[in-house]
Amino acid sequence: MQSTEKKTEIRLRGIGVSPGISHAPIRFAGTDSFEEPERRALDGAQVDFERERLQRAVTRTREQIREMQREIDGTLGAEHAGIFDAHLLVLEDSAVLEEVIRTLEKDRVNVEWAYWGVINRYLESLRKIPDPYLRERAIDIEDVARRVLKNLRHPDGDAAPAGFAAPGASGPAILAAHDLTPSDTVGLDRERVLGFATEAGSPTSHTAIIARSLNIPAVVALHGLHERMHPGDMALLDGYHGLVIVNPSPETLEHYQQLLLREGELLRELELLRDRETVTADGRRVVLSANIEFVEELPQVRQQGAEGVGLYRTEFFYLNEAELRAEDRQADNYTAVAKAVRPHGVIIRTLDIGGDKLWPEYFEEREPNPFLGWRGIRVSIARPEIFKTQLRAILRASANGKVGVMFPFLSCIEELRAAKRLLDEVKSELESDGLPFDPNLEVGAMIEIPSAALMAHTYAKEVDFFSIGTNDLIQYTTAVDRVNERVADLYQPAHPAVIRLIRDVVVTAHDHGIWAGVCGEMGGDVMLSPLLIGAGVDELSVGAAQILRIRRAISRLDSAECRDLLDAALQCGETAEILGLCREIAEAKYPELID
Ligand code: PEP
Ligand code: MG
Repeated sequence: MQSTEKKTEIRLRGIGVSPGISHAPIRFAGTDSFEEPERRALDGAQVDFERERLQRAVTRTREQIREMQREIDGTLGAEHAGIFDAHLLVLEDSAVLEEVIRTLEKDRVNVEWAYWGVINRYLESLRKIPDPYLRERAIDIEDVARRVLKNLRHPDGDAAPAGFAAPGASGPAILAAHDLTPSDTVGLDRERVLGFATEAGSPTSHTAIIARSLNIPAVVALHGLHERMHPGDMALLDGYHGLVIVNPSPETLEHYQQLLLREGELLRELELLRDRETVTADGRRVVLSANIEFVEELPQVRQQGAEGVGLYRTEFFYLNEAELRAEDRQADNYTAVAKAVRPHGVIIRTLDIGGDKLWPEYFEEREPNPFLGWRGIRVSIARPEIFKTQLRAILRASANGKVGVMFPFLSCIEELRAAKRLLDEVKSELESDGLPFDPNLEVGAMIEIPSAALMAHTYAKEVDFFSIGTNDLIQYTTAVDRVNERVADLYQPAHPAVIRLIRDVVVTAHDHGIWAGVCGEMGGDVMLSPLLIGAGVDELSVGAAQILRIRRAISRLDSAECRDLLDAALQCGETAEILGLCREIAEAKYPELID
């Protein structure tokens, strides 16, 4: 790596949303196509002409978006291409277009000015709402508006999309921007964009999802990026740890050089574990499966040696592509997953809409506390026609492989019972229709709300397994919003209350003869593996990229020692003490897996 000796090294910390390390000069994404246009006064006779120009620009933009959609469909698949459906809806939004026409007629101004003004008013009101979903919609709207404005300015110009400019001909770069839209990200020149860094963003945005799919290292939520980075500065972007180091010193570069070498060696060693079972040093078997959101992740799931899929988050494909919601399409999708993971199985989680996944057609009115509102099983029970369609599709897929189903966001036993009643109804309907399904399909409860954890003994009598959703269990136990950067330091997986709940849920499951797994991000953190093994979990479902690391960590752990660690942790009052105990074991057993 080339060094930048004379300048001072600056470290910016954000959230790593796509792993990998890159080293290149910074280039800022251009935003010029959304600049305020020139205002021109019109006489009455020109209004019709301006109206037509708008019509033509909208048509051209529609063609460009569809073209991009076709391209993405061919490379990344239909779920990703579905993102552009949202852009088409924004483009055709009649409220916006009618307001632009009214402005043309009333103020007699050029259409660029009228369009820009209307869009800006929408954006301003959206940006005032502190909600990640709406902030992302603002990015979509701005993206579409930039295209329309470009087409108004250059009606005969090239058809290249008007997204943020990727680095120019001058070579590879790390792209810095306030934010990137999903279509900006998809359109990045992967030869030259070695990584991207943004001020805004969250790990659950479409932009982050696409960055991971494209293997572009990315760090988001970097406050002060514009003040502390300058075009042409050399930077090192560490997508693993959410770090951007501007003007890295020779020592830092050397350190990363070593890290990359070690990482390469480690990956080669870990590959040897691909076809092994996951067993502790003293012979305790643990199932290690993968979490997925899209079928495109399946090759990686197999390549990493996952024992099936322990959590299929179905809402992402469901929400992104309306056509895939039909029963046959869902059944095909679930069947494809079930076949791909043979001889292992897939656990399909029913829709978990709500919280930070507020789809406009389901959430016309904003809720004051979406994470405490209409979410998960609550939505499914309130919309039985949607829920039953999904259950039919899941059951039909169960005729073609090992399929389980689990319900998210259970806060009381009545919800589990209602969901199971609907499942039974669907089974009877399928029987009458003569459609095959697995009558013994396993049914699980996600334990991710403290009330469910505390009442686990009632759920245990009525399900085949528990899957502990630690992402939400931590959020609801400690009252820390999982997507709020401001309280991120209070979001503590090793909080003593969380550990206690996990342990109690696993003990309850075993007392009732059922198995218990963990499918939250905590399961993929090698530092916390001793605690989860100590708690006695039977399964861990983690991101595909974590599979081999966790397999090695578990293979070095002794279950009796982990149980002692857990007992000691239960005596601790502070998270830091628990983390200290975990670190001791992790450092002794698998130092190479820790940073
Ligand atoms: C969880 O809450 O831990 C979980 C796995 O579900 P999600 O992250 O989708 O809410
Ligand atoms: Mg959850």
